[in-house]
Amino acid sequence: MNNHLQRLREQEELTRNQRRKNMRLSRLLAAMVLLCFSLTGMVGVMMSISPKDEKKSDENVNEEAVKTELSEEDKWQLILVNKERVVPVDFTVDLITFDNVRVDCRISDMLRDMLNDAKKDGIDIAICSGYRSVSEQRQIYEAKVSSFLTQGYNEEASKINTNQYIQPPGASEHHTGLAVDLQTGGKPALDESFAQTPAYEWLKENAAKYGFIERYPKDKSDITGVFWEPWHFRYVGPSNAKAITSMGICLEEYV
Ligand SMILES: [Zn+2]
Repeated sequence: MNNHLQRLREQEELTRNQRRKNMRLSRLLAAMVLLCFSLTGMVGVMMSISPKDEKKSDENVNEEAVKTELSEEDKWQLILVNKERVVPVDFTVDLITFDNVRVDCRISDMLRDMLNDAKKDGIDIAICSGYRSVSEQRQIYEAKVSSFLTQGYNEEASKINTNQYIQPPGASEHHTGLAVDLQTGGKPALDESFAQTPAYEWLKENAAKYGFIERYPKDKSDITGVFWEPWHFRYVGPSNAKAITSMGICLEEYV
């Protein structure tokens, strides 16, 4: 029970830390924008830009904006879903049935290659969970809340407890069809013991080649807002996955 309370406190602390971090980032950004405006103003006065030059510099700015815009591929590969960025209730993706689950059809080839290549290396990896709709998530979430209510917890405590295990409807990355929970040895672990398996070792070494990242790393829970989930992998495309993995950052930091 003490451990449980400790864990609740840790979760609350994580959320607070994340908010503080976001605040700090917003302030830093605001300061940078102000600095840019001041510098642009100063340069304009010093060089007395003619209308023609001004037009040219506008064009340059637009060109830059185009360059920094996400490609169509990045737009879906880098979609960010968490407690602060929930998907709309009617969010849909083109799904394909993959083994016993459903995933976004755009990732099935890479997923198949990953599992087959692991098998060739003598590593057993299977999928125990893929896409979930917002309403399916709501059912799972509410069932868990009910189970705490029947144990005698009040409404608020039941929700806090549930949030330890299950993302609220709309906040689960499984809505995207780009996330999978993996298992080895024929049964889902869905706990930290997965990190002790050869399957996890293999994934750490190879998943990025197929476009997958470990979405909730151990040392990033203050940013992701989710405790370490070594079994949960997310497709972001091979080039993004390699960059994220080599930099040792999480998706929130990357986007
Ligand atoms: Zn998951």
